Amino acid sequence: MAKSKVFILYTGGTFGMQALDSAKSGLRPGSWDQILQYMPAVNKSPYFDHFKNVSFNFAALDPVVDSSDISTDTWKSISETIEAHYNDHDGFVVIHGTDTMAYTASALSFVFQGLSKPIILTGSQLPVFHPRTDAITNLSNAIYIAAYKSFDLIKVPEVCICFNDDILRGNRAVKSSTLDFEGFSSPNFRNLGHLEQDILINKNLLLEDGLQLDMKTGFSRKVVNVTIFPGYDPSVLLKLVTDRQIEGVVLKTFGAGNLPHSDKWTELVRACEENGVLILATTQCQNGSIDLGKYKSSEVLMSDHVIPGFDITSEAALTKLMWVIGNYPFDERAAVLASNLRGEISLA
Ligand code: ASP
Repeated sequence: MAKSKVFILYTGGTFGMQALDSAKSGLRPGSWDQILQYMPAVNKSPYFDHFKNVSFNFAALDPVVDSSDISTDTWKSISETIEAHYNDHDGFVVIHGTDTMAYTASALSFVFQGLSKPIILTGSQLPVFHPRTDAITNLSNAIYIAAYKSFDLIKVPEVCICFNDDILRGNRAVKSSTLDFEGFSSPNFRNLGHLEQDILINKNLLLEDGLQLDMKTGFSRKVVNVTIFPGYDPSVLLKLVTDRQIEGVVLKTFGAGNLPHSDKWTELVRACEENGVLILATTQCQNGSIDLGKYKSSEVLMSDHVIPGFDITSEAALTKLMWVIGNYPFDERAAVLASNLRGEISLA
């Protein structure tokens, strides 16, 4: 059986959390050493020895965090850690809190162009210290996918979320439950694989193996994510645009791209054109796609400053917009946003 080298980066999250002082205090992440000390499977039986043909290297974010505290700087530092170890490892596991895991997975998918190794994010709904924890299963599953060579598995050269029994494309995944072990789903794209007694990987869905790694780690924070609701008035948004506070908007429209009727939308789109702001139009629906012009209620968005997000998730839309603005000059942004970069959209 072939040997593999896997790099595990622990960033925090419920996976390693404990209530430190008293029953009253909230959960916060513990150190990687505490996890290794405790994890029954790691401590009592030689857990990592079970993976005889896998050699591991470990690192932890400093400090480890609840994933609510993950920022664009953290995405950069996770990316740079992976880059520093890229050539001498076969796969990467990132242990991450579930709350913002779909954002990080999407962000990393854009950062790494030409990826030829698996980057697998995982975490858990119950801490590893809990007797019914899902942490060990999730970590083991992620290790199998990252160490594919040692288990005779198909290589998944993508940023993925491996959680419960699912392997999901990272930029298609959403956190869909705060409670269920099945914490993530991929509403608009089939699972890349399933982890049952056998591990099944849908080879025909995978992105092509990359030839040359190219990283871009810029992310703009001058964006907003606006969910339209009945009676929504775009005046506040208009002010942000005319005051040049923002360079991009993810607009979560009704259905296929529809908005409540108001002349202010025409004003807003014109202001975007004059102030170099792009709108990425997405749908509030979990399932389905943007189709601008299908209804009269979306015609106001037919401008070259409005880019249809098709069936993109909210998390991928926001990170794609931040990444595009952070790395490309204005005149290239609309074309990059409209294209399918890492399998995040299905073009009609
Ligand atoms: N608040 C935790 C986090 O995202 C939740 C979790 O990991 O499940 O870090």
